[in-house]
Amino acid sequence: MPECTAQLVETGACSDRDVAAAANQTGVARRPSRLGALMKRLAAVLSLLVALALVCYADEAGWARYRVFVPNDAAAQRLTDSSLPLFSDNVTLGFTDVIAGPEHQKELNHLGLPYFFVQALPPPGPTMWAQSGDYRSAYFPLDAIIAQYEQWRQESPTWVTRVNAGTSWEGRAVWVYRLREPSTPIPPRSVVLQAGIHAREWISPSVVMHLFNNLRELAQTSIMHRWLINEVEVCAFPVLNPDGYEYTWTTNRLWRKNRRNNGSSYGVDLNRNYSVGFGGGGSSGNPSSDTYRGPSAFSEPETRAVRDFVATLPNLVGFIDYHSYGQLILWPWGYTTNSPPDRDELDRIGRMMEQEVESAYGADYRQGQTSTTLYLASGVSNDWAYGVYRVPGLAIELRDRGTYGFRLPPDQIRPTQHENYLAFEAYLIDLVR
Ligand SMILES: [Zn+2]
Repeated sequence: MPECTAQLVETGACSDRDVAAAANQTGVARRPSRLGALMKRLAAVLSLLVALALVCYADEAGWARYRVFVPNDAAAQRLTDSSLPLFSDNVTLGFTDVIAGPEHQKELNHLGLPYFFVQALPPPGPTMWAQSGDYRSAYFPLDAIIAQYEQWRQESPTWVTRVNAGTSWEGRAVWVYRLREPSTPIPPRSVVLQAGIHAREWISPSVVMHLFNNLRELAQTSIMHRWLINEVEVCAFPVLNPDGYEYTWTTNRLWRKNRRNNGSSYGVDLNRNYSVGFGGGGSSGNPSSDTYRGPSAFSEPETRAVRDFVATLPNLVGFIDYHSYGQLILWPWGYTTNSPPDRDELDRIGRMMEQEVESAYGADYRQGQTSTTLYLASGVSNDWAYGVYRVPGLAIELRDRGTYGFRLPPDQIRPTQHENYLAFEAYLIDLVR
């Protein structure tokens, strides 16, 4: 029902019909020259009343998802700098969804941007889902994810190793798991995968678990996959933002940032904290913003863990950061709309992966440069990987395209894992061929 009423406000179609019917009943239709203007006025009034009713409804209900119209860069930056929690991974020109509770209504109205109600949300709280099953069918809390990687390490002690790359604000280890054939030539080529940089994007750690384990299992029986992990090692951060991820399980399912104490608010958006383009458009200096970039580049222990670990690799050749949602394969730059020097090559890789990911079930993914596909995003991890190491750094937005958003139902875990394994394998083969 909320979806339907949202469309009413967006298109005004039903209101127009109601207005026409009302006009006919009152005999106004006999004066066609004035009818159009009258209908328009009535439609506007009705739309306003419906919108007000929806806002009141949302107020009463507490928390809701709203769709904000973002017509230009200035509006996008205003939204970026606001304290409104996003219900999107990025502020996007066109429309961006936000979350507003009773305390956000004033700020939502003061943005000065048209918006409409999409759906009621439960108040911030821990997940209500019963979690049971394996990692192909259920989301795992932090401890279970690490325990799963540990099991794989015990099963394949010569192939799987791990490194403690850093310690989060709340004292949790930032692990990296490495998969490679012991006979890999030295220096090995390495691909880095980041999962869970944004806490609420639960499908990201789920997918990276599958990329890692499926390749491990295939390499035990398939000569081709054995060759692949001999050619390139895979280094996976299972959950790069462990404090935030834990917080989404215990306290607020829709938390995005890490858990740095900013004084009057919490959290830095780790994917605005990398050095390339740090401080630019699509990031915010407001600590309450969901895209707060932090006091300086690499101010956060979690991003420093990536920077310092990657510095130990003799030959980084690839980098993918997994996010949700949107079904997008994004390549540099995010911080500027200028084309990257290797634009054609990145576009080729993007197209190849788009084709692979869609080949499984026909799920519609799009590919392109971050800044021109969405809006500016500065200080993001894949700009850093590309800018510093000149490797094809990607940010992949997993399922879905907004119906469930961050609360992707568990029955979509398996297909999302499978289709993205195909794209990932194609990426690896392309790098080493
Ligand atoms: Zn994200």
